[in-house]
Amino acid sequence: MSPDDPTATALPDGPMPSPAAPVDHLVIVGNGMAGQRLVEALVQREGAPRRITLIGAEACPAYNRILLSPLLAGEMEREALTLRDADWYAERGVELVLGERVERIDRAARRLTTAGGREIAYDRLVLATGSTPALPPVDGLELDGVHAFRDLDDAAALTRAAERGGRAVVIGGGLLGLEAAEGLRKRARAGLSVSVLQRASRLMNRQLDATAAGLLQAELEGRGLEIVTGADLERLEDDGRGRVCAVRLADGRRLPADCVVLAIGIAPSVELGRRAGLEVHRGIVVDDRLTSSDPAIHALGECCEFEGRTYGLVEPIWRQVEVLAARLAGEDVEGYVEAPTATKLKVSGISLYAFGPIEPDVDHEVLTYHDPEHGDYRRLLLRDGRLEGAVLYGDTAAGPWYFAEALAGRHLDACRQALLFGPADARALLDATKAEAPNPATPHAQDRSPQEEAA
Ligand SMILES: Cc1cc2nc3c(=O)[nH]c(=O)nc-3n(C[C@H](O)[C@H](O)[C@H](O)COP(=O)(O)OP(=O)(O)OC[C@H]3O[C@@H](n4cnc5c(N)ncnc54)[C@H](O)[C@@H]3O)c2cc1C
Repeated sequence: MSPDDPTATALPDGPMPSPAAPVDHLVIVGNGMAGQRLVEALVQREGAPRRITLIGAEACPAYNRILLSPLLAGEMEREALTLRDADWYAERGVELVLGERVERIDRAARRLTTAGGREIAYDRLVLATGSTPALPPVDGLELDGVHAFRDLDDAAALTRAAERGGRAVVIGGGLLGLEAAEGLRKRARAGLSVSVLQRASRLMNRQLDATAAGLLQAELEGRGLEIVTGADLERLEDDGRGRVCAVRLADGRRLPADCVVLAIGIAPSVELGRRAGLEVHRGIVVDDRLTSSDPAIHALGECCEFEGRTYGLVEPIWRQVEVLAARLAGEDVEGYVEAPTATKLKVSGISLYAFGPIEPDVDHEVLTYHDPEHGDYRRLLLRDGRLEGAVLYGDTAAGPWYFAEALAGRHLDACRQALLFGPADARALLDATKAEAPNPATPHAQDRSPQEEAA
């Protein structure tokens, strides 16, 4: 905490909360996917806090943000996104405060204040404030027609823009940008051209290698999207009436635009925590119990930072929720540990699955299968016979199996020749090797790979 920050509050003078002490009133700020999931996990537990209040800036009960992409594409109805309706919270005694942004935390008094002036006292506080779209450092972001793709309001605005037609430019060729671009294209009624600008030399450069990115680009171009890679954004142009009319690139190119979507990444929503004097780097810093620098305040989801990492996918957030829920209910629980995650793209008709490093290093063995006719591509990275990374395009059915094998750190030399064809053939070879292996009672047998055993 900066000693000069007049808005920062000191730690309370009273005793620090003990992890084992039952929590009386728990307040959760952020009625998004993490906050809602935490409530869900708590109401099932015996030692749950006596009172739970959930405060959210959005006007409706939490919804499945992941499904904003199919909603924009017109593949789902709005109602299907709601996770639980207001009655569900009421029936479980959870107080739901919607449409109110928390503005201030007084840590000394353990009390927070909303923008509407409501004051709420807490014994324990959880910050689950998520993140906001990252903004490129260029002029023109404030113009009409410039959108993000983060919440229901954004999805509604993009739906209207798509239905009006014209020219849409999506800035960012990662997961979110491509889902937005495909959503706009599918939603369009009148003529709408959609361009995707990607600064890197290929789409989804953090998840895909050049071959898979090339296949993806060809597929999207075939559907009618324009993909511009190596695009360095310079500014958004004003039509003179406060509305965006074009995107200007650093190399001088100018793309006319009636609608611009910013999808270059996310920034953890840390302002509330920062103002309260919590330790904040990129996110609100937490330990493996999801506790911030104030023992009475936890943070989880996209607003938190653990061991230098911040988050953008739900899988690790669900594991954080389990740790925090158990702790708040006074249960003994292992701390949160980081684990690899896999990426999928939710664009219908395109299957992608990737995890691990993108570029092989000198010690990686690279196994590749490419069937251009069927649009199938698989590339596996192995180190010392163990799977470390995979990029699958087309047929991705084997993806979860590869991921599980990588997590297990299993030695796969015995099924190397079948590995690219998925689990069925590979497992048969692994089983055969096991059957041939000598008596496992041999000293240190459990430390050896099936391959070493067979040898
Ligand atoms: C279009 C889209 C597609 C996605 N697809 C995938 C996917 O396929 N797979 C995947 O794993 N992840 C996906 N994600 C990411 C996933 O949705 C997030 O990781 C997840 O929602 C994070 O949960 P959270 O609770 O931390 O943040 P959020 O869900 O954003 O919730 C934070 C909530 O806190 C509220 N809030 C913030 N500040 C305050 C305040 N001061 N007072 C009160 N309320 C406040 C916000 O309004 C928001 O409702 C996608 C995201 C988007 C936008």
